Amino acid sequence: MRLFLICVLFVLGLGTNRSSAASTSERPPNIVIIFCDDLGWGDLGCFGNPTIRTPNLDRMAAEGQRWTQFYVAAPVCTPSRAALMTGRLPIRNGMTGKRAVLFPNSGGGLRPEEITLPELLKQKNYATGMFGKWHLGHLPKYLPTSQGFDTYFGIPYSNDMDKVGGPGYRAEAAKDPDYYPNAAHFNVPLMRGMEIIERPADQNTITRRYTEEAIQFIRDKKDQPFFVYLPHSMPHIPLFASEEFRGKSKRGLYGDVVEEIDANVGKVLDTLRELKIEENTLVMFSSDNGPWLSFETHGGSAGALRAGKGTTFEGGQRVPTIFWWPGKVKPGIVHELGSTLDMMATVASLTSTNAPTDRKLDSYNLAPTLLGTGGSPRKEMFYWTNAELHAVRSGPWKLHVKMREPINYGKEVVLSKPELYHVERDISESYNVADQHPEIVDRLLAMMKAHQSDIEPHEDMLAIPLPN
Ligand code: MG
Repeated sequence: MRLFLICVLFVLGLGTNRSSAASTSERPPNIVIIFCDDLGWGDLGCFGNPTIRTPNLDRMAAEGQRWTQFYVAAPVCTPSRAALMTGRLPIRNGMTGKRAVLFPNSGGGLRPEEITLPELLKQKNYATGMFGKWHLGHLPKYLPTSQGFDTYFGIPYSNDMDKVGGPGYRAEAAKDPDYYPNAAHFNVPLMRGMEIIERPADQNTITRRYTEEAIQFIRDKKDQPFFVYLPHSMPHIPLFASEEFRGKSKRGLYGDVVEEIDANVGKVLDTLRELKIEENTLVMFSSDNGPWLSFETHGGSAGALRAGKGTTFEGGQRVPTIFWWPGKVKPGIVHELGSTLDMMATVASLTSTNAPTDRKLDSYNLAPTLLGTGGSPRKEMFYWTNAELHAVRSGPWKLHVKMREPINYGKEVVLSKPELYHVERDISESYNVADQHPEIVDRLLAMMKAHQSDIEPHEDMLAIPLPN
């Protein structure tokens, strides 16, 4: 009898396993995007940082692909995020203009007519959850739950906005590496859906709480395809870390914050392994722009790259990027070009959904590179900031016609003569070789001109005031 029962259980078990395996192979992959705020290209162990410990991201990179020349479409938060969500340059989707980003007194946001990644994935009935900083409009019609996400837990704009007294973080932080801010001085709302559930948000625990919410969502939705967008509000200043991490990193508070993010990335990957869905889940890790250098030790590092956030130098727009999907993403280091803009075409390809065809996209399909079957189709990058085209990259060459001073938000400089750099031989953009290569200067200038003639800018959504 006992043997019979064991046989029955064995057969039932096999049957269950077989059907779940079949449904997994038919199912499009889950997509998880973990995005940081102002994390520099040089801030992870696997990108060469000597003092910040990132064992989880280092393991993710070793098991997956580390991209060394991966770009965001703008060197500040709002336009960069708009490009990730739509696969379109901010000059096309309206999330750029004279203002750099959205503020609490902004009445605009990402236009509801734009097609976002979660809206794309709704073609296949993905469960879509967002946990973190949005920064694409805080009025109801622009919030994540109006733009394709089923659920939202996070802050609607930057964590340094809504200041309410207390010492000015800018001055304190720049002077004192040990300064720890008071979360009560930033009256930032924490929202669930369209409701404010905590104000000011307790930012000391925010990295952990975003992650816990994302993990709960993954557990709840594991039996259907899901999309998780987990954009941490750290390490944007003011910097906050939970007690467990505070004072632990050789790199100081900034290191504590990045090490906490690393540990929380580890928890997400561990959850996927525990649920045995890691072989059906693509995880991407990246950052929205380069380090905020004017905050000195409270800002990050772009490593060998020139300058940081707010500039169109490499340090402003090249970001540390890792892709992970055990058994699918071919492990290794990729030195080809890629961009957050490319997530629209790439995700559409991997999930057999249809990216929009009724509008111009700036998105290349990186799936062949991820899966190890081909090179990257991206051969160029256009560097826009505040609705101005500053530079272009074509292969290894980069031409600047305008630039900001190396510390972000410095004065815009219109160059009297374009500057040309070979950013593979000269990763730090130190040696202007325009005079030696006039034909390359001419070719890149022609590329910029052709690109600009292809742009029909939308209304400046950053400039819309709050309605009365
Ligand atoms: Mg940012």
